[in-house]
Amino acid sequence: MNNDIDVKALPTPCYIVDERLLIKNLETLNKVQERTGCNILLALKGFSMFSVFPTVGKYLKGITSSSLFEARLGYERMGKEVHIYAPAYIDEEFDEIVKYCDHIVFNSFDQWKRFKDKVKNAGKKIECGIRVNPEYSEIETPIYNPCYKYSRLGVTLPNFKPDELDGIDGLHFHTMCEQNSDTLERTIKVVDEKFGEYIKKMKWINLGGGHHITRPDYDIETLVKSIMFFKDKYGVDVYLEPGEAIALNTGYLVAKVLDIVNNGMNIAILDTSAACHMPDVIEMPYRPNIIGAGKPEEYPHTYRFGGLTCLAGDIIGDYSFKEPLKPGDRLVFCDMAHYTMVKNNTFNGVNLPSIALYTEKDGIKIVKRFGYEDFEGRLS
Ligand SMILES: *Cc1c(COP(=O)(O)O)cnc(C)c1O
Repeated sequence: MNNDIDVKALPTPCYIVDERLLIKNLETLNKVQERTGCNILLALKGFSMFSVFPTVGKYLKGITSSSLFEARLGYERMGKEVHIYAPAYIDEEFDEIVKYCDHIVFNSFDQWKRFKDKVKNAGKKIECGIRVNPEYSEIETPIYNPCYKYSRLGVTLPNFKPDELDGIDGLHFHTMCEQNSDTLERTIKVVDEKFGEYIKKMKWINLGGGHHITRPDYDIETLVKSIMFFKDKYGVDVYLEPGEAIALNTGYLVAKVLDIVNNGMNIAILDTSAACHMPDVIEMPYRPNIIGAGKPEEYPHTYRFGGLTCLAGDIIGDYSFKEPLKPGDRLVFCDMAHYTMVKNNTFNGVNLPSIALYTEKDGIKIVKRFGYEDFEGRLS
């Protein structure tokens, strides 16, 4: 964390995004747009901190959404292109979806047929697409792999209906997760072999998300080559819709030690929770980095970090420190901007972390605090 951010000035727990780091990512993404003429969208599923949407909108073409509510948030808070894809749309919501969206991607030809007339009668131009499943993915975690056996996501080649493409402007595929461009290059080969004759008839192709473009070892040249492959071969516009890559390494979760107990090892109980505030720690699972902490036993004082819920498995990981910890000490978890605020919950009645933003102009600003109303508001 940049040392001009005073961690002690923050309430805990608190997510804080450093706008300077976000801008750095956006500049990297914008360079890809400038070099290739492609369009990059922010996938709100991964990062929906709308107080930075004006900044994101300066660089990217718009957002993509997975639901009516995300579409509305993007429409109202950024006001650029609004795309949507969902495995199925809800009849009662579709009229409102049409109001906010300019691109709608369908998961099946039946869905396309079902909503075709509503699109036609929208009173504005909406470009529609079909999500295809190339049945090729290098993701090894099954819950993140859209190409596993019996996947419901996208149309496979045997199920593809070429005679129902009238009114369809684009094809969409999403088969990656936190991957480099070599994976994209291999995926594109399969997509091209299977769906090339249909891409020919399209205005655009959407390469989905999962591109880890802003990671230091990401190979941007191969990404550029892959985008240009589609543009040159088929004359189509190319969309990318990463979520994680926009917010990667731009934010932190600051928490405090509440108590230290011992049961065969030292266990620190924090005022945050894996289950409530960083669910991917349990779902992926992974062990987030903490500033100043080492691997277990690397430094003299090792602790297991647990959350303040009653869930036995609410464990963040084991860490070691040069000095012993004590109640009141603050901890800074790294890379906590994406898939945190959008996934957190109030399990056990645990409050949600505040949300703060650091900008060059204003320094630290607490943009949101949560309270009892947020817990009560979603119950009855
Ligand atoms: C999840 C998802 C994204 C964003 O993925 P990231 O891994 O955050 O880049 C984009 N498009 C679709 C269809 C998705 O399901």
